[in-house]
Amino acid sequence: MDISYILNELGEDRDEYFRAVSPPIVQTSNFAFKTVDDLRKAFENEYGGWLYSRGLNPTVEILRKKLAALDGAEDCLVFNSGAAAIFASVLANVKTGDHIVSVKDPYTWARKMFDEILPRFGITVTYIDGRLIENFENAIQPNTRIIYLESPNSWMFDLQDLTAVAKLARSKNIVTICDNSYCTPLYQKPYELGIDLVLQSATKYISGHSDVVAGVLSGSSKQIERIFNSEYNNIGSGIQPFNAWLLIRGLRTLPARLERITRTTQLVIDFLLSHPRVEEVIFPLHPSFPQYALAKTQMKGGCGLLTFTIRTQSCETIEKFCNSLKHILMAVSWGGHESLIIPKCAGLQRADFNPELALHRSFRLYVGLEEPEYIMADLKQAFDVINDLS
Ligand SMILES: *Cc1c(COP(=O)(O)O)cnc(C)c1O
Repeated sequence: MDISYILNELGEDRDEYFRAVSPPIVQTSNFAFKTVDDLRKAFENEYGGWLYSRGLNPTVEILRKKLAALDGAEDCLVFNSGAAAIFASVLANVKTGDHIVSVKDPYTWARKMFDEILPRFGITVTYIDGRLIENFENAIQPNTRIIYLESPNSWMFDLQDLTAVAKLARSKNIVTICDNSYCTPLYQKPYELGIDLVLQSATKYISGHSDVVAGVLSGSSKQIERIFNSEYNNIGSGIQPFNAWLLIRGLRTLPARLERITRTTQLVIDFLLSHPRVEEVIFPLHPSFPQYALAKTQMKGGCGLLTFTIRTQSCETIEKFCNSLKHILMAVSWGGHESLIIPKCAGLQRADFNPELALHRSFRLYVGLEEPEYIMADLKQAFDVINDLS
């Protein structure tokens, strides 16, 4: 399907709402029926029409059609957070006694679910280095029900060969779930590579303006309808109409934003690599990346998230660098208009900082929509501040 058609027309029946170009926010909790028989039919099949906005809502429906099409999937559900999409996708496919194989550093709240919630229900998880297909083969047990992927993941950007993992899982009737937040469906389409359920935090690039928390889960009609009738309605964390409308607005400019961010990121990477203080830049679509060949085959782009490491002996130098930035904001998340940075040491006690470990000397940088020179000048002046520090 044509991307311009998806973003500008799909799901939008303007004859239904005064030919308004921007769709209405149908801010209602419930829908009224003219006859008892109509109400009966809605009770029988909530997935078939408007009944109650915890389930389906017309504004959310427009968004769902667009997001499913972008993923190349049959259907999708939109949640009030990416974490809720993760939770529903996993919960819908396990029962007591089951086993999950997960990549070793999934998103924080996926990991918490695996480590703290699922064990209470007798579900076990094996973490593996997902860069090698043999590790999946070796970790699968007779009771493995899910393979959980995130490609690339945050910080190190480890990739999994999605086609190979999907093929292996299919041969053993295992459901594959992939967190695609890094690439967005514009730059990677795991569903088309054979992954069963694809999710992303729409908080990031889909919103694009750092003003919405949301998540998307895409898959086959069968899986998605099943999840709608159980986890989605039961957890009750579906997206609200106003936030859905903001995401539709974000989608209009998604390709333009990603293009711009991709171009600026290249310039920022070149700047960082040319700076004597920088030891390494980690970015999946840079030729120095160990899995560059795989990245090129399954990703169309890398967008704006990268990790860089500096030469230093001390945590204080890293703190001084970050505290000196004038425009790049220190904050979690990414995908918005604004450039962001997090030093790894913010997650450590100062006493535990070990300069021998490159990871401790690293920063996660998100390149936003500012002028490239504005971002690079900010980094440069912060490097100047730490120039004389070890
Ligand atoms: C942010 C993020 C999530 C969680 O999404 P929320 O919308 O914050 O709940 C999941 N996975 C990845 C990779 C993320 O970066």
